[in-house]
Amino acid sequence: MSPATETRLQSRSLALSLSEMQSGQALSRAAACDLMRCSDELLPELLSSARAAKERFKPGVITYSRKVFIPLTNLCRDYCGYCVFRRDPGDRGAHTMTPEEVLAVVHQGEKLGCTEALFSLGDKPELVFPEMRETLRRLGYHSTLQYLEAMCELVLRESTLLPHPNPGLMSAEWIRRLALVSPSMGLMLETTNAALLKPGAAHDNAPDKLPARRLRTIEEAGKQRVPFTTGLLIGIGESVEDRVDTLLAIREMHERYGHVQEVIVQNFRAKPGIPMQDSPEPALREMLRTVAVARLLMPHVNIQAPPNLSAPYYDELLDAGINDWGGVSPLTPDFINPEKPWPHLEQLRARTEAQGFKLEARLPVYPEFLSRALDRPGLLRERVQSAADAEGYARRAA
Ligand code: SF4
Repeated sequence: MSPATETRLQSRSLALSLSEMQSGQALSRAAACDLMRCSDELLPELLSSARAAKERFKPGVITYSRKVFIPLTNLCRDYCGYCVFRRDPGDRGAHTMTPEEVLAVVHQGEKLGCTEALFSLGDKPELVFPEMRETLRRLGYHSTLQYLEAMCELVLRESTLLPHPNPGLMSAEWIRRLALVSPSMGLMLETTNAALLKPGAAHDNAPDKLPARRLRTIEEAGKQRVPFTTGLLIGIGESVEDRVDTLLAIREMHERYGHVQEVIVQNFRAKPGIPMQDSPEPALREMLRTVAVARLLMPHVNIQAPPNLSAPYYDELLDAGINDWGGVSPLTPDFINPEKPWPHLEQLRARTEAQGFKLEARLPVYPEFLSRALDRPGLLRERVQSAADAEGYARRAA
């Protein structure tokens, strides 16, 4: 087939897919895969449809959450091939934060107008490391999740920040307990491709990355009506179909339970010292196609892409239909991608406004999910109430 004929056929299929969507039908798997593969020539058309869908959803505004990042422990029982964050006990930089360290970061964040304390940590390190069991025993806890629960409660009690825990897999019981001390929580689905757990692949020796187990956590959160952040990671050995299937799995969860407050599209970045240090990174165009297809598959869900992982291509991400920049910290580095600093907030504002959007600070829980957090009893409800303005955005942050 000549390139011209191929482009004509692709153009027709793109137009069909987009008209299918505009007529109110949900975008099908086949159409989504076609869009993910569209040629560079047709990419602007895909992006403009995605941006128009974003404007129908949340016109004129892009949000972000002003946060501090709290790496409660970087010990982790998993060994993901792309992870620069995790450590074994005794490794250089291995650390579990004390309550005093947590509070020190939170109070500095408070002074800078932060409203979110993002707890990011390794998954249940005490199951494999006696050193972590000993650390927890000294701190007075039996498990990392129990310690996390106590630290979320401490943040609520001692500051105006709202905790957003991201601790890996959680049982129904732990979701119930953490939901009493945090208005929202998260777990990246990453991918539905279980073959990535095979030897040599990205999730080799990462038992907590089994997609079925992660979907179970997301589903449990749905049953308990917990506002939930999830997403996919691209460039870790998955196919285009896998990307679409991951987005469809998230869409299905949201259709069943209505609790997915945000879908993150995250791109793999190679770093020295990780098992995947020589793996190719996804090209910007792949990232843009994925963001645009995520937007078209879920036109009424918040879609986020971390700005520091695509810098300096902020305008392009806005063009692809995101409506949120995620958590951006004026204080703490991105411990997951320490070599990629977050943009200065004023720079992010200027770039966002130059594209015709107002930049609005939100809480870790999105405005449309706020009522769920307000349904919870006690201190959490009080803190959420005073952190939110009349429209459900962050009251304190500029
Ligand atoms: S990505 Fe998360 S689960 Fe995987 S090794 Fe790193 S900290 Fe552990």
